[in-house]
Amino acid sequence: MKDYGAFEPVIGLEVHAQMLTSTKAFCGCSTKFGSAPNTNVCPVCLGMPGSLPVLNINLVEFIIRMGLAVHCRIAPRSVFARKNYFYPDLPKGYQISQYEEPICTNGFVDLELEDSATRRVGITRIHMEEDAGKSIHDAGASTLVDVNRCGVPLIEIVTEPDIRSPREAYQFLFMIRQLVTYLGICDGNMEEGSLRCDANVSVRRKGVTELGTKTEVKNMNSFRNVERALTYEIERQIGVVGDGGRIVQETLLWDADQNVAFPMRSKEEAHDYRYFPDPDLVPVHVDEPWIRRVEASLPELPLSRRDRLVEELGLPRYDADILTVEKGTADYFEAVLADLQQRVGKDPRELSKTVSNWVMTEVLRVVSEQKIAVSEFPVPASRLAGLIALIQDGTISGSIAKEVFARMLVSNDEPRVIVDQAGLAQVSDTGAIDGAVEAVLAANGAQVEKYLAGNAKIFGFFVGETMKLMKGKGNPKLVNDLLKRKLEARRG
Ligand SMILES: [Zn+2]
Repeated sequence: MKDYGAFEPVIGLEVHAQMLTSTKAFCGCSTKFGSAPNTNVCPVCLGMPGSLPVLNINLVEFIIRMGLAVHCRIAPRSVFARKNYFYPDLPKGYQISQYEEPICTNGFVDLELEDSATRRVGITRIHMEEDAGKSIHDAGASTLVDVNRCGVPLIEIVTEPDIRSPREAYQFLFMIRQLVTYLGICDGNMEEGSLRCDANVSVRRKGVTELGTKTEVKNMNSFRNVERALTYEIERQIGVVGDGGRIVQETLLWDADQNVAFPMRSKEEAHDYRYFPDPDLVPVHVDEPWIRRVEASLPELPLSRRDRLVEELGLPRYDADILTVEKGTADYFEAVLADLQQRVGKDPRELSKTVSNWVMTEVLRVVSEQKIAVSEFPVPASRLAGLIALIQDGTISGSIAKEVFARMLVSNDEPRVIVDQAGLAQVSDTGAIDGAVEAVLAANGAQVEKYLAGNAKIFGFFVGETMKLMKGKGNPKLVNDLLKRKLEARRG
């Protein structure tokens, strides 16, 4: 962790996550992204006089999932409030949010720090709210407004000021992203705005418990930008305080192109929202059976899954970390392993590392090259298992398998069919191997002499030459055995 000398940064985050409900928070309009502008709207989300909002029960269900995943208390009664302000992309003139009585409070997540210590980050609250529309400023001389996003459900996660470095802020966001995607409540896409983060930052001298004056940093639309913007702002504040200056409480906008945070014009940050309980919505009541039902439906969460892969399957922690970053990757890995185990009848602990290597190196490489999700990966788990089974039973070598894998990416054929059609099966015919070995030894008399004189390392050279001669299809074990036998025979 970076050392800030006599100073200590203090960071709190506010994370907005867009919920994956199919309809909006308080009306039946679609939440589909990318629809033609101003088509997913109705009198309710446009705030027409006389229209009445009706709460989407899935929004409540989703926020309870999140609340339970981060150990929050779920309030038996919570209240919606109006947050009033004027902006062209907010036709109602207010946003429905929760203010004094949010649904989730007092949670936490534990970050794993480098020195195997943990940092507990308190979750002050998580509440439900609706999104505003979108102003499109880069449309020539005029500004356009698209109100499709008005009423799209969000949750806002507010932390305690417990984060102590930009790296920890990154880790926290990473965990939140992992959790919301595992829970299936948000797609976690920061670049497209379904996950957004603002930060409150201050610095203080080490040993001081009082908080310094904070600034708010907004507009950080990627994980990297969060880390960079916070680094910038912490160093700026330390510079000011170190020179005997004072921090001005203000809101800053991060400019990723210039790597600088600029103060917002003060007019834009006049925070007088005149919150009051929304008279059109009744309080939300959540009873104990509902909470227990949601709890029972929670999937295995990322950290427990990772630990299980290490403990039950004997995977290295490094592999388990990578495999569980995305739920889709972990699901794929476990599906290949289960299928392979069916085919070859071995203990999963004996197969797990092989499968992990295939998923981490080959599958994730293709996924990243093609910029797709693991769920869109063209080779179904059962077919990858089929390929690995062919290596296990000696039909093909590991290097030929890579070639078959490349063909599987563009074919729907079973690996066995590809191997047969392309004549890739391993040669286990001792006669053919015998001929190749003899030819290699005859052509490399000088190397044979060296081997016999005690240079054991040169053995690998003969294996390589024989495999080359057999176009990679020689059964490696048989090639090794035969070479050894024939070389020893020459000792006479
Ligand atoms: Zn609507």
